[in-house]
Amino acid sequence: MSFIKKLDIMLFDSLSNNKVKIKLIDNENLKFYVCGPTVYERPHIGNARSIVIYDLFYRFFRVKFDNVTYVRNITDVDDKINQCAKERNISIKSLTSEILGFFNQDIAKLNVLTPNFQPKATEHIDEMIKIIQILIDKGHAYISQGHVLFNVKTYKEYGNLSNRDISELNAGARIEVANYKKDPLDFVLWKPSDDDDDESSIFNSPWGSGRPGWHIECSAMSTKYLGNNFDIHGGGADLQFPHHENEIAQSKCAHQDSHYASYWVHNGFLTVNGEKMSKSLKNFITVNDLIAQKYSGLVIRLLLLSTHYRKPLDFNDKSLEDAIKTINKFCQSSKQEFLMDQKQIEDLFKNIDDKNLDHKYLVQAMKYLADDFNISKILAMLHEMCKESKKNSNISKQLTHILQFLGFIDKSSFGSEDKIEEIDKDFILSKINERLDAKKNKNYQLADKIRQELLDKGVILEDVANDKTNYSFK
Ligand SMILES: [Zn+2]
Repeated sequence: MSFIKKLDIMLFDSLSNNKVKIKLIDNENLKFYVCGPTVYERPHIGNARSIVIYDLFYRFFRVKFDNVTYVRNITDVDDKINQCAKERNISIKSLTSEILGFFNQDIAKLNVLTPNFQPKATEHIDEMIKIIQILIDKGHAYISQGHVLFNVKTYKEYGNLSNRDISELNAGARIEVANYKKDPLDFVLWKPSDDDDDESSIFNSPWGSGRPGWHIECSAMSTKYLGNNFDIHGGGADLQFPHHENEIAQSKCAHQDSHYASYWVHNGFLTVNGEKMSKSLKNFITVNDLIAQKYSGLVIRLLLLSTHYRKPLDFNDKSLEDAIKTINKFCQSSKQEFLMDQKQIEDLFKNIDDKNLDHKYLVQAMKYLADDFNISKILAMLHEMCKESKKNSNISKQLTHILQFLGFIDKSSFGSEDKIEEIDKDFILSKINERLDAKKNKNYQLADKIRQELLDKGVILEDVANDKTNYSFK
């Protein structure tokens, strides 16, 4: 048996609250679900942290197991989306397609592999309705004033994942409980539309027109692509309660003999200069803000992965500076001639030989990843390798391969071959005016398209006032 097949994966599982050895339901077929973005605003660095963390998991699982099915959903129907579309006075469809476009564009810059499935909630309404109907039929859900609610009292294990006691939760629940709920903890599976809702967020159901609750979306999409039981479920620590607790309750009650996910992983919070990121504190940083300030996606990726995935990560000037220095050092110590394509890199790691001294560092990197993704040890080893690589080409080769495997270097690290074309000042100014007009007419899609068109040509726009935009070159 190859080294990688013999390697045990230890992972901290939130459900058992323990570091455990991973055992798959189906031998070599790993099934992995992660809660994806709610597409109402451009991804911020907190969202991006979760994306790159699970991308690291995915890269490792792809070499460890014969088959991996990785599903990361897209929440494109949600209260926050409705509210944002109303505030911007645009349709829900144009908001979600605009933001999804930004999401894909921004995330690609972080060198993230595409999951096997990225299902959209709006395309799985029938699956959600089916589960809700089962829950009603089995007495786990009830209809009240156009809503369908899950009755938490009917699920005895509620609170197990987040280690909370139902009676304490009830006591702690806000005094003002919506009058359609039997119990304060009951949560919405289906809600009726508001009078001013736009039609792209209104769906027919046996309980009237409306839209699903957020939690049922993940239960329906994970079941469709991975089955009633799957191996690993991931998401941000802020989703553990109530979102993940509710996913478990719904799915286990709807599907007999289901344990839903075998293991639960949660990534830590991201703060900015020691504070929670929030619009009111004006410390809200998007991936695009950093890219526009000329930070490379690889620097952002390294920064977001530089702290162990379960620990909190603080984003500040120093962490950004450190990430730049580290990426520069990595680029200088690795060699372009050793770069491979993604398939070759994966094949190399699948076939690591622990008896081969030329694989010494590759072996060590895999051992660290298998130990609950111990990134600190990997980074320490990579820094050591940088020192040795100048004298030893074999170390430089292994270093290049590990860095490429982790997504910290790629072709762009060795000087981009795309030349920025000569661009005429009048052309830029005419585009800027066209974009200002588009913004005035609330055609944000066009405005963002123009911004991107210029960015592709190496021109960065900065809105300094409502009717004034400056530009600079990359
Ligand atoms: Zn979810």
